[in-house]
Amino acid sequence: MKIAFYSTKSYDKEYFEKNNKFGHEFTFFEAPLNKNTANLTVGNNAVCVFVNDKLDEETISKLSENNIKLIVLRCAGFNNVDLKATEKFGLKVYRVPAYSPHAVAEHAVALILTLNRKVHKAYNRIREGNFSLEKLTGFDLYQKTVGVIGTGKIGSIFCDIMRGFGCKIIAYDAFPSPTLSSQGLNYVSLDTLYENSDIISLHCPLTPETHHLINSDSFEKMKKGVMLINTSRGALIHTKDAIIALKHGKLGYLGIDVYEQEEKLFFNDLSEIIIPDDVISRLMTFPNVIITSHQGFFTKEALEQIALTTLKNLTDFENSVENENLVQNLKI
Ligand code: NAD
Repeated sequence: MKIAFYSTKSYDKEYFEKNNKFGHEFTFFEAPLNKNTANLTVGNNAVCVFVNDKLDEETISKLSENNIKLIVLRCAGFNNVDLKATEKFGLKVYRVPAYSPHAVAEHAVALILTLNRKVHKAYNRIREGNFSLEKLTGFDLYQKTVGVIGTGKIGSIFCDIMRGFGCKIIAYDAFPSPTLSSQGLNYVSLDTLYENSDIISLHCPLTPETHHLINSDSFEKMKKGVMLINTSRGALIHTKDAIIALKHGKLGYLGIDVYEQEEKLFFNDLSEIIIPDDVISRLMTFPNVIITSHQGFFTKEALEQIALTTLKNLTDFENSVENENLVQNLKI
């Protein structure tokens, strides 16, 4: 098949070319897919896209005009795709449901440890010959209560890791897992989770129900000084409310790998331009906030798996082989 890749980075090219044993033909574009770039697909049969490509109705209609039959996502989440429009124009959508849930869960833990033990500050201090410990005090994770929202593939691994630190785990999921429950996972209501957690980590998808799940009302219910970690999707958190909670000290630490307006910023080197986003600029000024640029997934193992699964999705579509990664077959 002929596939137009959008939002391509050097690592996408490397891993897809290395694993292409199926004779697919790739055209790599650095540009993101949106209504203005959809015409680059002329002559292709499929598009391969990532988290910040915007597949709204207008874009999908243009893809359809260009004879695109297939959208393959190099990610698990598909909140950036208008599925109704894909039905309307007859395009199939495939995803990579799991590449390395360990990678994302481990990154959430990296954010916790860095925020708590202030490794980022210590690193910079030592490089300047400052060996002082002033203001680097952390806390023991042992016996702290960790609230996990969303206990799917990533959330359940995260629970296991945090248990290893001796933390008490409580969880909320719209669809609690009977298996995890029978293994002793303590599911509670969202309010109970907010009231009791020292650390809250988000691992649920972005849906209309979870959009701005964390807002001024939820901060109100949390412990003063709580640590909030988001490696899931930016719009789970109402960012301006988080800034207010940080200013009041209600939110003691914030670690985010995702951000509401990330598509204009993340994955790009903007070091030589003025950041046009005042909200993230304000967040960047807090000493107790760590932002990473959607790198939770970014391990060698995950890149390999993303390429292999996406190539399988393309090949199965081409050969009319049934494939569980077809998004339109999911019960959502
Ligand atoms: P998953 O589908 O295995 O698990 C999601 C869990 O959330 C499920 O248990 C589901 O029941 C639960 N859920 C659904 N609606 C909910 C609601 N309203 N409230 C609470 N829980 C709800 O997904 P996963 O593979 O564990 O991924 C979780 C999220 O992580 C993805 O949706 C994606 O947004 C994000 N992600 C981020 C990165 C990254 O690089 N930072 C990489 C991969 C995935």
